[in-house]
Amino acid sequence: MAIFDQAIRRLSLSLSRRRSSLSFSTLSSNPLRVCVVGTGPAGFYTAEKAHQGAEVDIIDRLPTPFGLVRSGVAPDHPETKIVTNQFSKVAQHERCSFFGNVTLGSSVSLSELRELYHVVVLAYGAESDRALGIPGEYLSGIQSAREFVWWYNGHPDGKNLSPDLKSTDTAVILGQGNVALDVARILLQSTSVLATTDIASHALEALEQSSIRKVYLVGRRGPAQAACTAKEIREVLGIKDLCIHINEVDLRKSPEDEVGINVIHLCACLIDMFFICFSFYQNISYRLPLSLLLLLFSYSCGAF
Ligand SMILES: Cc1cc2nc3c(=O)[nH]c(=O)nc-3n(C[C@H](O)[C@H](O)[C@H](O)COP(=O)(O)OP(=O)(O)OC[C@H]3O[C@@H](n4cnc5c(N)ncnc54)[C@H](O)[C@@H]3O)c2cc1C
Repeated sequence: MAIFDQAIRRLSLSLSRRRSSLSFSTLSSNPLRVCVVGTGPAGFYTAEKAHQGAEVDIIDRLPTPFGLVRSGVAPDHPETKIVTNQFSKVAQHERCSFFGNVTLGSSVSLSELRELYHVVVLAYGAESDRALGIPGEYLSGIQSAREFVWWYNGHPDGKNLSPDLKSTDTAVILGQGNVALDVARILLQSTSVLATTDIASHALEALEQSSIRKVYLVGRRGPAQAACTAKEIREVLGIKDLCIHINEVDLRKSPEDEVGINVIHLCACLIDMFFICFSFYQNISYRLPLSLLLLLFSYSCGAF
């Protein structure tokens, strides 16, 4: 509570200083003032660009910054979290201030922010779950991935979840994207491995006593449509003493699946190529038109 009051006092002080400076000088003679709501990647990348020509205040409803990089990305993926070093540098810049424990909608209203800043950027992410609308969806023992992930990542709103991991040996995960694989990995990984990560201590304790030995990953369509990436699959396959069972019939592809897979591969190649060409073009000032390179690449992929 004290931290919260302190943050609000700091923000009000900063805002009232700005309010008085607004009344003593013209808008145009002031530096541009930007407020970014939300400290996830969207908020910090915006602040990084904006603080080059503006004063930026970044606010978040939590006491700590970094949004889902902190509370979504799995604890055994520290390499993904490295981006927080870049964000910390932005937060430490003299034209940037971070105010934690400030919630848009209760601590401060949008109209107040619009009065005090030239620009307000709303980058508060997506914190609700998508309901499936099926019977039993809210029975006990059923958790959204968001809640579960917040729980093992130590998000303040997830610490009281206490999922029941002791009265069954089986967990079912609906979905086959990367988050589904993150959850499966956390449930099945040896706790001695998890202990070396920054997993929340309450989660590690619960996982140490977990009786879950079997995890079903259920997808509504086939492998061609599964949204997970190869890296995440490899990680699950690499868990020691884990036996993976895939029904052969589930791997069968229809002719439509084959077309879909080829299109996805081509798009992925083109996107990669675009970024390679773009950085090449920018950094080395190579003058071969980008479109020509893309065209050549498309030919070499057999797209035409
Ligand atoms: C489980 C999971 C794992 C993921 N793993 C990866 C990965 O490995 N690699 C990868 O690239 N991407 C990953 N992602 C995706 C990535 O984390 C998100 O795409 C990204 O964080 C979205 O950024 P954002 O800034 O839009 O929102 P968020 O990161 O959600 O940030 C929003 C911020 O706004 C704050 N906020 C919300 N409401 C308010 C309010 N009213 N007032 C003030 N502040 C508010 C929140 O506290 C939060 O800090 C993962 C996502 C999830 C859910």
